[in-house]
Amino acid sequence: MFEIHPSLTHSHPCPHCRRSVGASGFVLAAGRSLGSGTCAQCGRKLLFDLPVGFGILYPACLDQASGEVFGPEVGTWFQDRLRRAWIGRGNESQVPLRIEVRRASKRIVLCNCLDDVYGHVLFKLFGVQPYLASSPDTEVAVLIPSNVRHLVPQGVSEVWEVDLPLPELTRWNERLGARLAEAITAKEKAWLGWCYPCPKPAVNTLELARPSGQSRLPRGRPLIAFCYREDRTWGRGLRVQARNLCKLAALLSKRYPSASLVLTGCGGSEPPIDGFEDYRSPRPDAKGEQVWIDLWAAADLAIGVHGSNMLLPTGLAQASIDLLPKGRYANIFQDTLPNPLLTEPREGLFGLRTIYGDEHLGDVKPELLADVAVSLIDGRERFLALERAARCFAEPSEFTSGVPRAIAALERFRQRPGSRAPGADGDFEVHGRG
Ligand SMILES: [Zn+2]
Repeated sequence: MFEIHPSLTHSHPCPHCRRSVGASGFVLAAGRSLGSGTCAQCGRKLLFDLPVGFGILYPACLDQASGEVFGPEVGTWFQDRLRRAWIGRGNESQVPLRIEVRRASKRIVLCNCLDDVYGHVLFKLFGVQPYLASSPDTEVAVLIPSNVRHLVPQGVSEVWEVDLPLPELTRWNERLGARLAEAITAKEKAWLGWCYPCPKPAVNTLELARPSGQSRLPRGRPLIAFCYREDRTWGRGLRVQARNLCKLAALLSKRYPSASLVLTGCGGSEPPIDGFEDYRSPRPDAKGEQVWIDLWAAADLAIGVHGSNMLLPTGLAQASIDLLPKGRYANIFQDTLPNPLLTEPREGLFGLRTIYGDEHLGDVKPELLADVAVSLIDGRERFLALERAARCFAEPSEFTSGVPRAIAALERFRQRPGSRAPGADGDFEVHGRG
């Protein structure tokens, strides 16, 4: 973590004369954590990213007089965002900040999770966990957009909630910045959490997104969730996506007559899609998101177009299929969280599938997607049983009792997946969830 109050030790090279400029203050604005300082050589007043969040990867520097932004060659979007925010800075009359204090503390680590991209907010939020209980006399505060507040981990002592839609969080609101500075300097000592903006390999998704056990879930199995979004579609446009989904539903329902197919995610301006139970919402609230979490956690399979909408589903469902459009190939796995149940690398690989498509995923046919889905649903239990057995055979301490148990456990997988077992009611029940 990085101390910002009462002392702040950080410097950034002046983009004009390269002289190191020490931070004399800080500004929390436009979803960023910035240091401010004046170059002793050329006298320019500068603002520069402190090393937290995306400031670790792409530290940018703004010349306050000219509005020019300087930074690394990679991550220019992060510079553009600063430039636009500075040009559009304003003194909004409303300060949409609510601070809830659960346990008062004079020393806090503040995790700044503000961002206009939902997935980025989650990445930063995953960075909160290490600070909980890290020190007995220091508490954790989370600066969070209202609509993600329900994912703030238990154990946080203060929730600083900004009630603005995500796209407005990267606007520069002077008054909000002043309120935040006031709240920080009221503390005896304050740090910023690193909130490194990438999914952690060992993150436990369930720490954030806990199934409530309260939702009335559809009863049919397998449960397959399509994580819907309107701005990035499977096929060019909403109509084609709806057609693809209808076809997919028909194929999967034919293969699994008792399946439940559900739509989760933002949307719903389009009419219902045949074959799916509709849980979409144009403006999801905390309650609606909790129902989605419950559905994903119960799902045998989550499917969706690549993007931050897939983060929680990949971490919660038994398996997932990510439809990756050509323009996003380099972003592979940015929307993927490891399912905490899959602790072995091969098990993780089995459960996380990617289908590479063209720019609009127009070449990803419903038949192909259905085939991959069926292979995952039918094959998962056998694959995991084989993996578990392999670990026994490789471990001398298991030779006496583990190996015979593993051999016995494999017996039930001698039938072909999908074939009817004596007394089974339907195909899926042959290899039901173990
Ligand atoms: Zn200078």
